[in-house]
Amino acid sequence: MSAVFNNATLSNLVRATTYADTLKNIQNYKPELNIAEQYWAAWYTYMNNDILATGLMFFILHEVIYFGRSLPWFIIDQIPYFRRWKIQPTKIPSTKEQLYCLKSVLLSHFLVEAIPIWTFHPMCQKLGITVEVPFPDLKTMTLEICLFFVLEDMWHYWAHRLFHYGVFYKYIHKQHHRYAAPFGLSAEYAHPAETMSLGFGTVGMPILYVMYTGKLHLFTLCLWVVLRLFQAVDSHSGYDFPWSLNKFLPFWAGAEHHDLHHHYFIGNYASSFRWWDFYLDTEAGPEAKAAREERMKLKANKGAQKKNQ
Ligand SMILES: [Zn+2]
Ligand SMILES: [Zn+2]
Repeated sequence: MSAVFNNATLSNLVRATTYADTLKNIQNYKPELNIAEQYWAAWYTYMNNDILATGLMFFILHEVIYFGRSLPWFIIDQIPYFRRWKIQPTKIPSTKEQLYCLKSVLLSHFLVEAIPIWTFHPMCQKLGITVEVPFPDLKTMTLEICLFFVLEDMWHYWAHRLFHYGVFYKYIHKQHHRYAAPFGLSAEYAHPAETMSLGFGTVGMPILYVMYTGKLHLFTLCLWVVLRLFQAVDSHSGYDFPWSLNKFLPFWAGAEHHDLHHHYFIGNYASSFRWWDFYLDTEAGPEAKAAREERMKLKANKGAQKKNQ
């Protein structure tokens, strides 16, 4: 029995031989649930196996969102009109390059990420991540997702900075830096060790959160993963539009921030926000370098003046 209703009688009553019929029964018996909750409950009831339901859902979600979000960027790359907003306008990725990347990412999804996805549900159950309906209220979900963004960004900054040191770069992170001018699809083009360790920021932070609070809904986790995938693909898109999110939220990193990282190899290590690189003086690009040198000069002059006094 699925834990979605936590009620064996109700589960048996609404479960039908097809997903559509299960959904119809849930709409009849539980009209108070919203549309998302009804579809969610129908999925878990119809599957009648929570491990399979969660594993399959995460796998499909990942594939659909990742490739679905990368496709518009692939199309934009084919249209010269959009070149005016390309951050490195002379470096348009060829179709051959993008196909090579697609093959490699697909292989990694099936070989590297498939296993942790299937073992995810039993771990959720142990930790107290629930699948029940109704979902938590919007405010709770929004606050939790904002917290995950902040925590993931912190993890990403330090882990990514470490990946730029000697052996870590040479044997692991170099693969991701194959493209000095990134494109949407290249977001997850990385060594398996990098996928696992940087992926910890996305999956591990919610796990630490639920270990501490004892409460988290799997739907919140799904929303978080979807938004994080959008962030990862978009930051590799190579395009900075006048309507990009970083134009409205100045602390949002966006493509402009991460493209500079791929271009110059040094600096801009964070994923979603600009604050770590700003406060720890690791911003990338010639402008940031000039400002850094200017600050160092001022500091040195001040030091010399003090000595002369
Ligand atoms: Zn890097
Ligand atoms: Zn990257």
